[in-house]
Amino acid sequence: MNIKSNLDNTIDTSQVEWSLEQAKKSYRIEQWSEGYFSFNEKGQTIIIPDPDDSDIAVSLESIIEGIKARGIKLPCVLRIEDLIENQIKRFYRYFNQSITKLNYQGKFRGVYPIKVNQNQEVVEAVAKAGRAFGHGLEAGSKAELLAAIPIIGKGDMPLVCNGYKDSEFIELALFAKQLGINCILVVESPKELELILKISKELDIRPNLGVRAKLSTVAGGKWGMSSGDSSLFGLDNGQILALVESLRKHGYLDCLQLLHSHLGSQIPDIKDIELGVLEATRIYMGLVAENASMGYLDLGGGLGVDYEGLADSQPFSRNYSIKDYCDTLVKTIKNTLAENNIAEPDIVTESGRATVAYFTVLLTKVLYVAKADRSTSPQPLPQQLSPNLTALIDLFEKKQQNETQDEIQRAIDLKEKLYYQFIKGEIPLREWAITGDIYRHIMLYFAKSSKVNTSINDSFKSNFTDIYYCNFSIFKSLPDVWAINQVFPVLPIKRMHEKPERHAILADITCDSDGKVDQFIGVEGTTNHLMLHELEDDEDYILGFFLVGAYQETLGDFHNLLGDTSVVTIKITGQESFMITSEIEGDSISEVMSYVEYEPAQMKSKLRKLSEQAIQEGRITPAERKKMMDTFVRGLANYTYLK
Ligand code: PLP
Repeated sequence: MNIKSNLDNTIDTSQVEWSLEQAKKSYRIEQWSEGYFSFNEKGQTIIIPDPDDSDIAVSLESIIEGIKARGIKLPCVLRIEDLIENQIKRFYRYFNQSITKLNYQGKFRGVYPIKVNQNQEVVEAVAKAGRAFGHGLEAGSKAELLAAIPIIGKGDMPLVCNGYKDSEFIELALFAKQLGINCILVVESPKELELILKISKELDIRPNLGVRAKLSTVAGGKWGMSSGDSSLFGLDNGQILALVESLRKHGYLDCLQLLHSHLGSQIPDIKDIELGVLEATRIYMGLVAENASMGYLDLGGGLGVDYEGLADSQPFSRNYSIKDYCDTLVKTIKNTLAENNIAEPDIVTESGRATVAYFTVLLTKVLYVAKADRSTSPQPLPQQLSPNLTALIDLFEKKQQNETQDEIQRAIDLKEKLYYQFIKGEIPLREWAITGDIYRHIMLYFAKSSKVNTSINDSFKSNFTDIYYCNFSIFKSLPDVWAINQVFPVLPIKRMHEKPERHAILADITCDSDGKVDQFIGVEGTTNHLMLHELEDDEDYILGFFLVGAYQETLGDFHNLLGDTSVVTIKITGQESFMITSEIEGDSISEVMSYVEYEPAQMKSKLRKLSEQAIQEGRITPAERKKMMDTFVRGLANYTYLK
């Protein structure tokens, strides 16, 4: 990694006149936020719930004040209901514009894949916002189907059942159909068809059927392996034709209504999407030619979110807008079917990420900053120093004269020599502490020097940035940062009119060296540090992680027994005004412990015994025992995050 290019790639605040406009440019907020977030004249980060139709905005600072006043603690996940409603409205607006413009005869029928954020409140909010448009749900497992049935209710909103199925799954889907739900069983493997036919006959319920095609199109991006001939999912073309034969033989061909395909999530390049749609449309045409009923062409998920605001085909960006996506789908299907004059199907998409990414912000407070340019050398310096340390100090004092790559290497070599001297006991702790301090300052100087274009190793990098310690767990709240190096926009929620001058990385409170965020939005791609403000005394410096509504809440784990954060859902009711529509308390320590097989009541009883024994042995008094037990019991009931 090249430190100079990383410096060029971030907000080089030393070079710029700071202004709100500059802040917007530097954090690329207009590029990634789809209009939902911005900064106001007070330098606050604001939410704009309906950017297409109104200027109404609420600052995150006032929301945080409001939730704190109600006794809700940070870290917390803030859900903004309005943004789900708006995203769904946008999908329908853009699809319907394309449909009208091209005189397409089918409708757009979106479905929300529950797995993307399966929390009940979220699924209900999507279903509520989508009902007027006929937006449906997608279930990928038995449990998701059971969650979906009561939420979707009766009507023609599709309930698409993907995923591997057993007889119970199939029975549930058939019963759902009997309840008046438009439940479509998508065949994922040849074996499933036999089971579906058997159970349908036994129950005498004719199923609505779909089939998942294994497309040969290979999409780029992080989830490209979901596509192509070797992907895990779906039937190849020979298997699809065998399915058609089997349905024909059993008199069920009229049940086949939907062709499903999914190239993978977060597809960055519109050309891949277009190619996938083309291939799926050709298969659809083949099924119509086989006399299957058809009617739905389901193109799965994949609509990307431009997390980095780069508008290009990097993995966490996308080189198209939502409108481009809608236009591409409608145009490609229309033009392809026109060749054979085939009836235009309803277009189904299963966009999860693009539906729910925006509506959630993770809010966490910075607890402490370890500055890269801190001076920790014990003063005064000892009279006698090792010659290596004297040489390092000399290099530090003369560093401006040369600024060469050789000098950096010399500093690294001297530090290494001093390290071996320390572990052999040749220099005392005091000199080793001074070494660390001087070395850090040399590296900082060179890192910022415009003359030295140096390749940077990890120790150089870690010497270069401040570490902002934040009260959260990456493993719980941002698992994709850890698992796949995903980049999310992150910002302070105020002080945007002030120039941020600290180069920072972020660390969480787990005891894990992976518990850090060190990839951020850069000007031309990712960069290894974020520009933040110097903390003021007693200031609550709060950071927001944005676009975290998709997958993060559902994939997180309990590393270090840090549990679910609190969740606050709001609805924006006017300028600087909002109401809390729901509040879910974060896990207490005893709740998290019980998830991993501890029994809090048993633990209390063990501690009672232990502390009683301490009284008998004269080490504590009964009053001290009471205090100890109170602290223990209170501790179990408390939030898992720091106070
Ligand atoms: N549909 C299926 C079958 C999926 O596997 C997925 C996730 O990968 C989705 C839809 C959701 O995709 P996205 O979040 O990219 O919209």
